[in-house]
Amino acid sequence: MKWRVLLELAEANGDVETRELATGQRPSSAISPEAIGLTLAEGKSVLAAMQTRLIQAQAGEYCDDRRICSHCGSCRVIKDWRARRLTTLFGVVQIEAPRFNPCRCGLASRQIVSPLGEIMPDRCTPEYERILVKMGSLAAYGRAAALMAEFLPLGEAPAIETARRRTLQVGAKLEQQSLAVKPYGGHVKSIRSYQLRSFEVMLACASNDRGEQQLFSSVPVEADRQRQQLNAVLRDLGATPATPVTVLSDGADGPRFTG
Ligand SMILES: [Zn+2]
Repeated sequence: MKWRVLLELAEANGDVETRELATGQRPSSAISPEAIGLTLAEGKSVLAAMQTRLIQAQAGEYCDDRRICSHCGSCRVIKDWRARRLTTLFGVVQIEAPRFNPCRCGLASRQIVSPLGEIMPDRCTPEYERILVKMGSLAAYGRAAALMAEFLPLGEAPAIETARRRTLQVGAKLEQQSLAVKPYGGHVKSIRSYQLRSFEVMLACASNDRGEQQLFSSVPVEADRQRQQLNAVLRDLGATPATPVTVLSDGADGPRFTG
């Protein structure tokens, strides 16, 4: 039997283009337990080819779109082309990226437009970065990179130093974010006529059987988000919907969420 894997790309204007991703064949005499269906290598190659074609097509469509001036509708003049590489979980994709001069009407943006810089601000996709960092946090960097390359058509396996650096960068970013969390505070004036007013803050601590703890708090104006907040905290501590939860409360009304 012979086969072809095709990718059909349908643009918004109705144009449809079909591109061949892979072909293969196995004479019936060659089918064996080892050679039935797609092998890992064949699967990786189909994924890599699909990723390349898809990204090139999406990039092309986006550039065509951005070339049109949003004010007068004319086509911007191409200033130059630059080679870009986007590292993804399914391979490193090379793209020729155009840059456009500002439109002659001068009414829309007067900056040079670099469309692919808008949709690919980094050299790798956020998903690639996320998985690389996740793997790097679970296993030794060299092992994490080798495991990823085993199953994914990375093309160029991430260098050990890259995985380590990215894990540290993401860790530093998270640390900064946690320090930058805006503290909630309030000042309550003790004026006799206003003594019936109250200032309410919910402060809680959740912990799991391993002794890991998370402190969290909210104010009434955020009451609609308290349930999401609690869910996120419990999830971070490893709880699933089936995990029994014991709530110890100071007896005050609330919290407002349930379940
Ligand atoms: Zn214009």
